[in-house]
Amino acid sequence: MIAIFGSGIIGLFTAHKLLEQGKKVKIFEYKNNEGNATDASVGMLAPLVEAKPYEKKLFKLMIESKKIWDNFLKDKKFTIETDLKSNSSLLIATNNDEEESIFFKKKFIEKLGFYPKILNSHQTKKIEPNLNSNVRCSLYLEDNNQTNPGLLKSYLKNKIKKMGGEVLIYNQISDIAFTPNKLTFKKKKIDFEKVVVACGAWSNDFLKKKVGIEFPMRPIKGVSMVFESKKRLFKNNIWFKKIYVAPRQNNQFAIGATEDEKGFEKYVTLDEIFYLSSSIWEYLPQIENLRFLKSISGLRSLLNDGNPVIGSLKKNKKIICAFGHFRHGILLAPITAEIVCNYVFGEEIERNSFFSPNRFNL
Ligand SMILES: Cc1cc2nc3c(=O)[nH]c(=O)nc-3n(C[C@H](O)[C@H](O)[C@H](O)COP(=O)(O)OP(=O)(O)OC[C@H]3O[C@@H](n4cnc5c(N)ncnc54)[C@H](O)[C@@H]3O)c2cc1C
Repeated sequence: MIAIFGSGIIGLFTAHKLLEQGKKVKIFEYKNNEGNATDASVGMLAPLVEAKPYEKKLFKLMIESKKIWDNFLKDKKFTIETDLKSNSSLLIATNNDEEESIFFKKKFIEKLGFYPKILNSHQTKKIEPNLNSNVRCSLYLEDNNQTNPGLLKSYLKNKIKKMGGEVLIYNQISDIAFTPNKLTFKKKKIDFEKVVVACGAWSNDFLKKKVGIEFPMRPIKGVSMVFESKKRLFKNNIWFKKIYVAPRQNNQFAIGATEDEKGFEKYVTLDEIFYLSSSIWEYLPQIENLRFLKSISGLRSLLNDGNPVIGSLKKNKKIICAFGHFRHGILLAPITAEIVCNYVFGEEIERNSFFSPNRFNL
């Protein structure tokens, strides 16, 4: 049996993949899961938008994962139930500075071997007629699409249950204890083959208490909002300088996101709502017609080198880490699940060692 700690997108994708490969799986979820990153996420699958200089290996990983997402598009049931879209991303410029940064971004993306188009104001408005008239130009990133993380979680949970996987909820960290081969859960001893730690921003807390090690990692708070419009405003994902907007079903839209160092604070503050609302006001006409539905706060996990931790611990090879996905966890979930599976089956593939926990020499 593989014990997975954490039922965010990383834990769920991993559980599903392991079940597909014939393993028995139990997911352990800590009761107080408020503030998890997956629920707050907008669900963008946009490696070209997220590409940054000096992050070549991470970019390669994002592209590999994106290919798996592109394959999911062939599965009709999956695309409908998770609202996986085959749309694209538009980076919008409304002034000189933004225009300059879009041209810079285009050149940078070309160096990575991709060739996005710049659209002028007229071409941009033709694709998205509801954009404000102040649009100067846009960068069109084809197929940088999006899914709905909430629906994705429900879809995976249902499938995991149907495939024989179990989700067990516990209330106190002391409900869990390890010996080399046995896991004690609420005083009951369970045999396990491997343990996967996928507790997102809380992974350090778990590892410190249960294994005695700590990674150079911190939580980064993010808030997103969902609003409803009377009509469908956009069909693509729209990226402005400060915020991005993704269309959801039923004329709903998700706006992301704030990014703040506030420790483990989970609640949504008024200044965060103000930031998102005033940013959208700069770009969208008639926001008085948009109905506010909800705001969600989530904690992203960030390692000090910016890369996720995926792989088994040198100190205890039975423990496999899968956390630290920061802004890219939805995009990276399928490839993370594949890499974790490699470790479960004892195949440590060289190309994955860059993301291994052993880079920190703990
Ligand atoms: C506002 C916002 C917008 C985002 N937008 C995007 C986006 O557009 N595209 C993208 O790719 N990524 C995005 N991200 C990032 C993405 O959401 C995260 O990288 C991803 O959700 C991380 O998933 P996870 O499973 O590692 O963590 P989480 O979703 O945080 O899940 C961790 C789980 O572990 C549980 N847990 C904690 N402690 C324990 C314990 N001791 N035992 C068992 N379980 C425990 C928690 O309760 C939680 O359920 C966004 C994040 C935020 C906050």
